[in-house]
Amino acid sequence: MAKAPLATIETICKSIQGYFPDANLELVRKAYAFAEKAHGDQKRSSGDPYIIHPTEVAQTLADMRLDLSSICAGFLHDTVEDTPAKLEDIEREFGKDVATLVDGVTKLNKMSFRTTEEKQAENFRKMVIAMSKDIRVIIVKLADRLSNMRSLQFLAPHKQKTIAQETLDIYAPLANRLGMSGIKVELEDLCLRFIHPDVYYKLAELVAKNKSEREKYLEEVAHLIQEKLVEYDVKAQVIGRAKHFYSIYKKMERRQVDFNELHDLLAFRIVVDNITECYKALGVIHAAFRPVPGRFKDYIAMPKANNYQSLHTTVIGSTGERTEIQIRTHEMNMVAERGIAAHWKYKEGRFDSATRDSVEWVNRLLEWQKDLSDPNEFLETVKVDLFSEDVFVFTPKGEVKELPHGATPLDFAYAVHTDVGNRCVGAKVNGRIVSLKHRLKSGDAIEIITSPTQTPSKDWLKIVKSSRAKAKIRAYIKLRERDIAKLEGMDIFEKALKKYELSLSKLEKSGKLDEILKECSIRTMEDLHVGIGYGRFQIEQLILKLIPKEELEAQRQKLKADENESFLKKAIKSASKKSEARNAIVVEGIDDLLVRYARCCNPVPGESIVGSITRGRGVTIHQANCPRALDTDTERRIAVSWNKTLTAPVKRAVRIRVLSNDDTGLLALMSQTITGCGVNIASANIRTTKDKKAIALFEVEVGNMEQLNRVMSALESKKGVISVERS
Ligand code: MN
Repeated sequence: MAKAPLATIETICKSIQGYFPDANLELVRKAYAFAEKAHGDQKRSSGDPYIIHPTEVAQTLADMRLDLSSICAGFLHDTVEDTPAKLEDIEREFGKDVATLVDGVTKLNKMSFRTTEEKQAENFRKMVIAMSKDIRVIIVKLADRLSNMRSLQFLAPHKQKTIAQETLDIYAPLANRLGMSGIKVELEDLCLRFIHPDVYYKLAELVAKNKSEREKYLEEVAHLIQEKLVEYDVKAQVIGRAKHFYSIYKKMERRQVDFNELHDLLAFRIVVDNITECYKALGVIHAAFRPVPGRFKDYIAMPKANNYQSLHTTVIGSTGERTEIQIRTHEMNMVAERGIAAHWKYKEGRFDSATRDSVEWVNRLLEWQKDLSDPNEFLETVKVDLFSEDVFVFTPKGEVKELPHGATPLDFAYAVHTDVGNRCVGAKVNGRIVSLKHRLKSGDAIEIITSPTQTPSKDWLKIVKSSRAKAKIRAYIKLRERDIAKLEGMDIFEKALKKYELSLSKLEKSGKLDEILKECSIRTMEDLHVGIGYGRFQIEQLILKLIPKEELEAQRQKLKADENESFLKKAIKSASKKSEARNAIVVEGIDDLLVRYARCCNPVPGESIVGSITRGRGVTIHQANCPRALDTDTERRIAVSWNKTLTAPVKRAVRIRVLSNDDTGLLALMSQTITGCGVNIASANIRTTKDKKAIALFEVEVGNMEQLNRVMSALESKKGVISVERS
């Protein structure tokens, strides 16, 4: 990877003049001077003067041809947080636009995505809101992260990994979603270097070792392609290049292959003047070399969601090797590199209409975050959107719909209209009837079959892939469950009132009912009914509040005579039932509930958790990000935490799955490793596979996450072990 040359205020001014000759550079120079003074003799972890970092950020922004406010914000982005400078100073000196950007970046900096899953989700939501206010905030933040990643080697090793992972999880996909492949590619390669150094250095070595061979190959093939194009009068620039390491790594992982040939690392790009020439060039290439079937993609006719446009094809080269070729116009090439930043209009000081799609995406996220009140659910939904590759399919009228990879007819139905989705019973794909689970491919033509009596079911959540369909199904189910809960709750409430000879109208008149609603922070009667229906409010406890003490005593006596087992008795009985989980978990606001651990995700002390209430069965404890927990209605969810006051630690049985080579003695070694960590093995089970691998399943008893992680990494480090995971 080419090391970026040292940025200075002069290189930045020069870059700006390159795309904005009339720019007033005074403000930019002033921002540099302000930042230099503010940071004073602060140092980076590399020992370099701190000012190098904001200068590098400003240079990245100038390279992307951003407006002057963003570049100033690049210089100033750390001043409010790390120096005595105040936001007011910045607004006074540089105006409101710059101050707002600096403020946005400062707020983003306060979010750490490295804490618990829950916080990560909440922070991501805040980021989306910041982004929707001004997309430049995110662009400055991306430039900031890029600069930090470039000097990651100066941090402690454990910090390197977490920051790289966070970058790979959040920032690289964001850069990709905004179409900024220049930044995305560099971020991903830097992440690979710190997360999988072995792979990274192996690839780097291979590329470096064969430098002369590589250059010769690139030159020869580029020349050959150029010759063919000239023959047909296509004026083009042919660029041979090494692919970025992370994409090679992903390919190796996906296809379970090792890279073996140098040309696997290389690719070619043909850049032409206009769209007609693109297709002409494609024709020439396909006539001269044999195309590999199924590898042609037309992102010009159907641009990616981030506005990326290009033709992709793979052909068999002259010596039988597979060669990847991209064909695009100069304009497309620029957009591919700079994404949304390529659409900044200097004259009008805003982004042009081509950014509409990206902005639309941000607006859609905003809409979902209103629908999905739970931050984890929101993050889950957004992740689908950030990470999936798209398929393009057609409506019967020939309209194109874009869906995530692996999408089903249900996704398509919801993309057409919510009502079509809700009533979908089947589909015809290319004229053939398919099941709702059928996976769509690019180019499919789809016709949805609906029925007025159909309604969405929970199982659909397992079938659909798109965020839109998921959000709509969840919303529908929630509404329906709420209706049922409301009716049930009403029924329970009325029966209880009757039993204790209470009159609703009297309670309302006396103001007693309002008092209680207030006390329990319930807004309306409807919320009360829903709450009772879901088991969130215990009817017995409510009744205790409604009746004056002496009256209650009289009622109790009466009820005792009436029934063998009274309402209250039942309540007390269920509360006194002990369970294993009871003491280990603190349920917010409620004491007397049965608590048990969910079998699906089996949480361990220290992990972020959430409770789900089932009436009559108490609270089930899930991992906070467990898909099952996410699929339950928000109103049934309840905040829970691990009891930190326990003296004796709780032991939890956790299943671990170890994939290894089928070596003799390995099972014994693994068992020793586990017990060596001071962890008890409840059960062990091993089977071998056809390809000479062994799968061992252990049930181990751990007290907390730390212990579990220790066991897992100890197992991982053993020779012959391929992977270790919780199952
Ligand atoms: Mn910074």
